Amino acid sequence: MKHKNAIPRVVIALGGNALGKTPEEQKVKVRNAAKALIELIKQGNEIIISHGNGPQVGMIHLAFEEASKINDKITTFDLPECTAMSQGYIGFHLQNALQAEIYEQKKPWYVASVVTQIEVDKDDKAFKNPSKPIGGFYTEEEAKAMMALNPKLIMKEDSNRGYRRMVPSPKPIRILEKESVVNMLDNEFIVVTCGGGGIPVVREEDGSYRGVTAVIDKDFASGILAESVHADYLFILTAVDRVALNYGTPQHQDLKQMSVTEAERYCEEGHFSSGSMLPKIQAAISFVKAGEGRRAVIASLDKAPLAVNGESGTIIYKEE
Ligand code: ADP
Ligand code: MG
Repeated sequence: MKHKNAIPRVVIALGGNALGKTPEEQKVKVRNAAKALIELIKQGNEIIISHGNGPQVGMIHLAFEEASKINDKITTFDLPECTAMSQGYIGFHLQNALQAEIYEQKKPWYVASVVTQIEVDKDDKAFKNPSKPIGGFYTEEEAKAMMALNPKLIMKEDSNRGYRRMVPSPKPIRILEKESVVNMLDNEFIVVTCGGGGIPVVREEDGSYRGVTAVIDKDFASGILAESVHADYLFILTAVDRVALNYGTPQHQDLKQMSVTEAERYCEEGHFSSGSMLPKIQAAISFVKAGEGRRAVIASLDKAPLAVNGESGTIIYKEE
């Protein structure tokens, strides 16, 4: 079956790097991103935006944790609430920047962010094996002292940079706000959704949902989003122009395209780091495999308009 959207529907996942480290930095980066995003619409696409929150969720979590130690009027916040806060202020900056660009270009478009919950399986293996590092870095002594104070805390060494809090990163199953998102899309809104991978929730016996202490990978969440809205393209915008084989070695080779079969083989051969490029490739493979005429593109944010025309980025496609 050929895709049925009259206008190509593009899900764009913005990487944490696209957002900077401080609110001021984020405003500048997001303003630049807005130009590329509006360009995509001008080229005839419908866009849905998602974003990461790794550094931001860690920062928010830590801020309350530290503040609560010195001021008993301040409480701590668990990760689902911290992700919700990150969706709010990142969504604010994205809306603000997109609106500025829309105004400048005199277009009649609207933009809105949706606080988004995503269902995860309460028996997901990830809950037993927290593997996603968030927040600041600590020495071994500090980490051990923190774990002694809080037996639930798991701190591990992160790439020779120090100890960090590790949190479970379960796989996303279903976007609870899907109907709201689709409704806005059908009314020609630019929608920001699934920020920070979405707020992870599990279903209770009574049918209600409860937030859980975890952070979903935004690449997997964006894959589910693309599937849910029957997107034609999944754009994952990050810090590198192209996916590479033998990344960062003298044999480094940028790829303009790869079939899903090739992509699967490269995964097995270990070309993609598990915390960074691998989830993007896995999300791209699943998305492309699950429908006809779909393409995934991994590109840099700066070159997004070029990537739409196949002039930059790495295209992942299914063999006919
Ligand atoms: P984001 O915040 O966009 O999710 P990540 O840092 O998680 O970004 O992932 C992108 C990074 O993955 C790149 O900046 C690069 O350093 C790293 N990377 C690892 N393996 C590869 C590869 N094979 N090709 C390109 N980049 C890779
Ligand atoms: Mg990442």
